Amino acid sequence: MQKKGIKQIELVRLAEEKGFKLGKSHISQYVSGKTLPRKEVLQFLADTLQVDGAWLAGESENKEKEVENSVRTFKKSSKLDNVLYDVRGPVVDQAAKMEEAGMHVLKLNIGNPAPFGFRAPDEVIYDMRQQLTECEGYSDSRGLFSARKAIMQYAQLKHIPNVTMDGIYTGNGASELIQLSLHALLNSGDEVLVPSPDYPLWTACVNLAGGKAVHYICDESSDWCPDVEDIKKKITPMTKALVIINPNNPTGALYPKELLEELVQVAREHQLILFSDEIYDRLVMDGLEHISTASLAPDLFCVTFSGLSKSHMACGFRVGWMIFSGNKSIAKDYMAGINMLSNMRLCSNVPGQSIIQTALGGYQSVNEYIVPGGRIYEQREFIYKALNDIPGISAVKPKAAFYIFPKIDTKKFNIINDEKFALDLLREKKILLIPGKGFNWHQPDHFRVVYLPRIEVLEDATEKLADFLNTYRQE
Ligand code: PLP
Repeated sequence: MQKKGIKQIELVRLAEEKGFKLGKSHISQYVSGKTLPRKEVLQFLADTLQVDGAWLAGESENKEKEVENSVRTFKKSSKLDNVLYDVRGPVVDQAAKMEEAGMHVLKLNIGNPAPFGFRAPDEVIYDMRQQLTECEGYSDSRGLFSARKAIMQYAQLKHIPNVTMDGIYTGNGASELIQLSLHALLNSGDEVLVPSPDYPLWTACVNLAGGKAVHYICDESSDWCPDVEDIKKKITPMTKALVIINPNNPTGALYPKELLEELVQVAREHQLILFSDEIYDRLVMDGLEHISTASLAPDLFCVTFSGLSKSHMACGFRVGWMIFSGNKSIAKDYMAGINMLSNMRLCSNVPGQSIIQTALGGYQSVNEYIVPGGRIYEQREFIYKALNDIPGISAVKPKAAFYIFPKIDTKKFNIINDEKFALDLLREKKILLIPGKGFNWHQPDHFRVVYLPRIEVLEDATEKLADFLNTYRQE
């Protein structure tokens, strides 16, 4: 319009002459691109302004631009190339599509207690409500004093040595702190020993931080305990840390004291940092006791991770923490790095922190779930037997947490791809499991079951799995 020296008002008048209703507001909308004119109005405007109709509609212009410069697209960072988190990966995406299409999928894929009827203790909810209005501001970046004090007392009960208030950090779940602690430590090429199978966040975070996750084997024939000889073989001058997940996800293993002592000794001999993920430490069955790795390593630098997600059935509140212990003098610079990253994220969710003191003190309702008659205990008894009764499936009995990691006879079912197995089961029986691959298990012969659903549901799921395997053979 400007180039042709035609004003809006003139276009309105000319349109009126031709019998069109055209307001100034219409023209503004066309100019801003909010709406396109009707076909006959577009033709009128093109004729009046003496331009090409397609150009005016913006079509030819786009085409010209496409030809002129190839279109810029945006790809994910190459930092993510080695990052895998299939607990919410392709099989889960397929399940979501099926749900969108109206199908009911039984999800045995994620350790999220709430959807299966596990509730956070009433007292915890009550206390969060009461304190909510006092939690509007940022807290100290490490966390509220009261929360850290309660964590410190918990650390004392677990015999973790040399813990101070400034060596405790709260996080938005242990997840945030796992990521933070690895980012603060690793230079490109640094190696971290991580179990296989693992909770895949560990491998993902090591790789994302520029390090290299080196997997050590947990041995199914020894109740899924880490193979210490394999760990020793895999240590190189680049190895900086050893990750221990105890109690373990996905196997449900609980490590005995002697084994932990051996692991600590390896770390001692090779001067490694110990990262001990103990988020399931209060979900231990059969009267067994969880021993904190750090309690056996007063002379080493240890970082212990835990939180309320599992023990208090409060995953959604995102409450986790990490504790520095032992020989902190060797890690001053590293701790300063962590502090910097912690400051950068300002603080963790303050309403979440406000319940830590209540949650860790007093009556522990989780204890009701893990004894005979309790849901987690009875569901474990059921799933263990039901899976082992299926021809071609065998599983080690879990001692803790709420996962089981069964083995599948790959010869019998000709399974060469465990992701395909999980997808086929999902499509045919609408059951969602995560294949072993999702836990950095490098053979196609395992899958993980989350046994949080009630026994009736687990019964239905295992019957369907048995039925599916009756005829299943991979091509
Ligand atoms: N560590 C392990 C072994 C886990 O299984 C999980 C969650 O499933 C986490 C850490 C993360 O827990 P959070 O909810 O505290 O982030």
